[in-house]
Amino acid sequence: MEDPKLEKHFKSHRSTVTSLSFSPNTKQLVSGSLDACLFLWPFKPQVRAYRFVGHNDAVHSVCFSPSGHLIASGSKDKKVRLWIPSVKGESTVFKAHTAAVRCVDFASDGQSLLSSSEDKTIKIWTVHRQKFQFSLNQHSNWVRCAKFSPDGRLIVSCSDDKTVKIWDRNTNECMHTFYEPHGFLNDVAFHPSGTCIGGGCTDASVKIWDIRTRKLIQHYANHVASVNSVAFHPNGNYLLSASSDATLKIFDLLEGRLIYTLHGHQGPATSVAFSKQGDFFASGGQDQQVLVWKTNFESAPSFAESTNTTSNKYTNGNDTSSNDYIPSTRVSSSTNQQKKAQISSLGEKSQPETSDERGARKIDVFNGKSAYPTYGDGDRLEITNIGPAYENGISRSNSASACLVNSEPMTNAISKNNNRTTYGTQSNVNQAYAPQLTNTLEHIVQQLDILTKTVAILETRLTMTEIIQLILGQSYMAATDNPEWFSTKQVDNNLFLTNENHFFEGNRANIWLIRGVARDLIIDCGLGVCNLKKHFENLNILDKDRECLVLCTHSHFDHCGGAKHFENDSQILIHRDDYQGLRDGRQKDTLNYVRSAHFDQAPYRNFSAREYRVPATKCESILDGHRIDLGADDEIIVSHVPGHTAGSVVCYYPKTKSLFTGDFVYDCVHGDELIDWVPTSSVRDYLRSANRMIDWLEEHDIEKIYPGHSRIFTDKKRVQDILREYIDSKDDCCSKAKGSCMQTMVSGFFKMGCFRCCQC
Ligand SMILES: [Zn+2]
Repeated sequence: MEDPKLEKHFKSHRSTVTSLSFSPNTKQLVSGSLDACLFLWPFKPQVRAYRFVGHNDAVHSVCFSPSGHLIASGSKDKKVRLWIPSVKGESTVFKAHTAAVRCVDFASDGQSLLSSSEDKTIKIWTVHRQKFQFSLNQHSNWVRCAKFSPDGRLIVSCSDDKTVKIWDRNTNECMHTFYEPHGFLNDVAFHPSGTCIGGGCTDASVKIWDIRTRKLIQHYANHVASVNSVAFHPNGNYLLSASSDATLKIFDLLEGRLIYTLHGHQGPATSVAFSKQGDFFASGGQDQQVLVWKTNFESAPSFAESTNTTSNKYTNGNDTSSNDYIPSTRVSSSTNQQKKAQISSLGEKSQPETSDERGARKIDVFNGKSAYPTYGDGDRLEITNIGPAYENGISRSNSASACLVNSEPMTNAISKNNNRTTYGTQSNVNQAYAPQLTNTLEHIVQQLDILTKTVAILETRLTMTEIIQLILGQSYMAATDNPEWFSTKQVDNNLFLTNENHFFEGNRANIWLIRGVARDLIIDCGLGVCNLKKHFENLNILDKDRECLVLCTHSHFDHCGGAKHFENDSQILIHRDDYQGLRDGRQKDTLNYVRSAHFDQAPYRNFSAREYRVPATKCESILDGHRIDLGADDEIIVSHVPGHTAGSVVCYYPKTKSLFTGDFVYDCVHGDELIDWVPTSSVRDYLRSANRMIDWLEEHDIEKIYPGHSRIFTDKKRVQDILREYIDSKDDCCSKAKGSCMQTMVSGFFKMGCFRCCQC
């Protein structure tokens, strides 16, 4: 067995290298960096590297697609980019999260992509058109890393909330949570068998859990600082780690111990990756370097290959390629100067040289102890079976140095005897697959069973929904008054602001009441879960004798859900292009992004968020330039600003030099957060309206801007800036995005249930 050898080193990044991924054919390596760039490194000497520029902030994660035709990158700029790995550096971009993207990963079929974020969520997207599929929302802090299992059926994630979660991709449910009391994982990876996960922890440890027994099975305490990245060798027998202690370490998982410590980085090592065949690995560091190493020590067929039933490459003893996998006796060498990097290795016959390199600590899975017995230097370690790597791949039953304790019977297609690997015959291999086949069939039967149950449940639910819709008219009006539901404050002489403070802030609308000379006007009216009209009357700010008009700035639930309560006594106005949505209570126009988690108090007894919908409401359609007469010369002028919805409007009140903007513009961190991607939106219209309103604001004396959400603006320049930022943010989008292709993301956001920057 030879030592790993440094082959190449690349240094062009201007900041810490954060992530690495090999192309499937091992001809290229992509790296991401805090310098906001990606580099695509060629392996041929004469070919130059490509630099990909597009992200506006640090790149945290890069990943080659399984076909090698795409590279995904996730950035602190909240976006995910998909790059074509060619000289042009073309990419498509989509805003994936409301905070920094920490990790991206392709499923093995190349059809799905996941992203994890500091917004505490994991989201799954289709690769084609980047359609949002679903999100996983149970973490309560940053999700540092998430990965698909090799078969794509599971997802593992690790978070700063000190948990590691295993998710079932079919049900979107968390199947199990591992707790990390002493720190959190920076990185997590699936073992190639799919039965174990490994992670690098801030407490300097490397850990491996069996997800079938749900137990920690290996624990390595060899690093002396936070472990930033881990990678399993494709054959499943080794794990590589990168740590802030500036070293890379290679662990032999079969023998359960550290076998190499590699010094090559000056400063923290931040990222590691194996090539698909396992013959190379790469490491990145805070020193801005990317190092590529020849593995050399790999000594067994890769897991993926050994389970490939169509390949008999390793069953033919005469095949020269199999010679590659016959391990030679490992040579011990304490130091080995190679180029700039220094490699120190721990041969199997040598005693560990430093106290931190005493091998793995073992978890005894048989007595269920959770304490980690520490083994002294040179102790023989026992390790437990880490899964089907044995069942399908390789075992070292007679290995002189390893003592295996298997928790279940092994089925060996390949066994290693006398330090030589012999490969089973084809029939042996087939026998080995028989139990697997049975398992698969059993799994399919289970899935069918679940499907049948799901269909049955769906049928029941449909019936319930129909009944609910029938009785909805009644239950809606029966909603009793909850004196605590609304809170109202006077913000100006004749202007009142009302909010529904027990509803999720991200979607909580501002309800404006203007007391005019002869009439009153309500601009937007909230969800409608409690009676706004009665609330105003109780406060004596709405007279039964005076005429009151209601204007909905657009048809979304949070703005027009409460209009119903005014239906009998008031004119309800809405722009023509949003009119039908409200008149018919159409789900697709009113959105209804209401989830039970969005209420910190039920508006009334037996309230059910799931049954919430905007009722069909009697209303009148208006057009651009419509004037609302509040008596004498008191009037409000309606201006059409399509984009967020087709019928979005703003209201200009010359008497108070104010503008009510609905969802067209509100105080957000950056203009690109304006909502132009819901099913009712059009980016093209939004851009046009934004340009028009920047000019309009310039020409008008406006002192106050009252948005549909969030704070009041007292400076119209800020509003103009947000609109300009919005316009600028569309500049770097593909031309398709300008034509509203982002709308494909929408179905998923329905599931998520909120559509403003939120942490839910
Ligand atoms: Zn809206």
